[in-house]
Amino acid sequence: MERAKVNQGIDLSAYEDVWVLGEQREGKIQPVTIELMGEGRKLADQLQKKLAVVIPGYKIESEVEKLLHYGADIVYYMSHPLLSSFSTDGYTSAFVQLIQKKKPEIVLVGATSIGRDIGPRIAARLGTGLTADCTKLEIDAEDGKILQTRPAFGGNLMATIVCPKNRPQMSTVRPGVMEKAIHQETAAGTMETFIPDLSENDIRAKLVEIIKEEKKQVNLTDARIIVSGGRGLKSAEGFHLIQELADVLGAEVGSSRACVEAGWIDASHQVGQTGTTVRPDIYIACGISGAIQHLAGMNESKYIVAINKDPEAPIFGICDYGIVGDLNDVIPAMIAKLTQKEV
Ligand code: FAD
Repeated sequence: MERAKVNQGIDLSAYEDVWVLGEQREGKIQPVTIELMGEGRKLADQLQKKLAVVIPGYKIESEVEKLLHYGADIVYYMSHPLLSSFSTDGYTSAFVQLIQKKKPEIVLVGATSIGRDIGPRIAARLGTGLTADCTKLEIDAEDGKILQTRPAFGGNLMATIVCPKNRPQMSTVRPGVMEKAIHQETAAGTMETFIPDLSENDIRAKLVEIIKEEKKQVNLTDARIIVSGGRGLKSAEGFHLIQELADVLGAEVGSSRACVEAGWIDASHQVGQTGTTVRPDIYIACGISGAIQHLAGMNESKYIVAINKDPEAPIFGICDYGIVGDLNDVIPAMIAKLTQKEV
């Protein structure tokens, strides 16, 4: 088999450093890059290796330089006119060229629409493995390999996966799962420009026009407060109450999968294992039972408030503040208190 041949007798010691494949959109570095750098820094420190971040783009030097303030030892700027906006072929080819040249030991990719597209392609071209949607990454103290943990079997167990024979070891991590690297005043690392070998013919899909969706974008990942509704709302109209509380708090609206499946709210609001992973300061779960797949997406929130009429609901097992009651009474009372109105 071609792939087995490629990787036979691979010299693992030739690979070092921890890399983050960064993302920019319209020339702006995406938050997931900073999150992966926070995690990458920890892994690099444990291995006593360097942390590098790679950004594809064109004429965005000053934006790319900012990454030196987030703890990167090396920032690779992959500069090419054909990388100014995303293309599956262009990005995949450029990243593969740089990885083959520099040989990183670990490569972290965001589980975003871009990362999910190119991550497996890069891994396949390099003949290595990739663990998708990791929720925890650690270094094995004995052999220095990365232990990649992710939910398996519908979230009923956590699987820890290793990539023992091939390099680089590749993981995708969902936005919002890892803590962001902290901005530092001083920039200690270096920036290197890499010009990949790319031509128009390498890119099969042509970007004709970007049409932005008109509907309001839901940004659960960066929200500091989220008010989430579950099946206890009983209907789509129940989300008016959730929206009202969210407006008072300046919060985003989240949802359990049950409401998305019932067609009460758009899937972009779904929190959980198959939705968005969030870690806001305050997460208010209203009429949500607390199924393991929901908890997987929000249990890293700083403070969890649960409103549920069933005192035995599992959500009460993980919340900081629990209110046993009918959400139709509790939420209006909260809104009234917050706006100092009489109920
Ligand atoms: P329910 O479990 O039906 O809970 C409704 C709650 O509302 C109950 O606790 C009830 O006591 C309470 N309630 C009812 N009326 C009121 C009232 N008037 N006032 C206050 N409380 C009230 N789920 C997700 O959310 N996100 C995911 O990403 C996700 N991914 C999944 C992936 C897989 C592979 C599978 C198998 C399942 C997944 N699920 C996910 C589904 C998950 O297992 C649950 O079915 C779902 O989370 C339940 O949603 P819920 O809590 O809104 O509904």
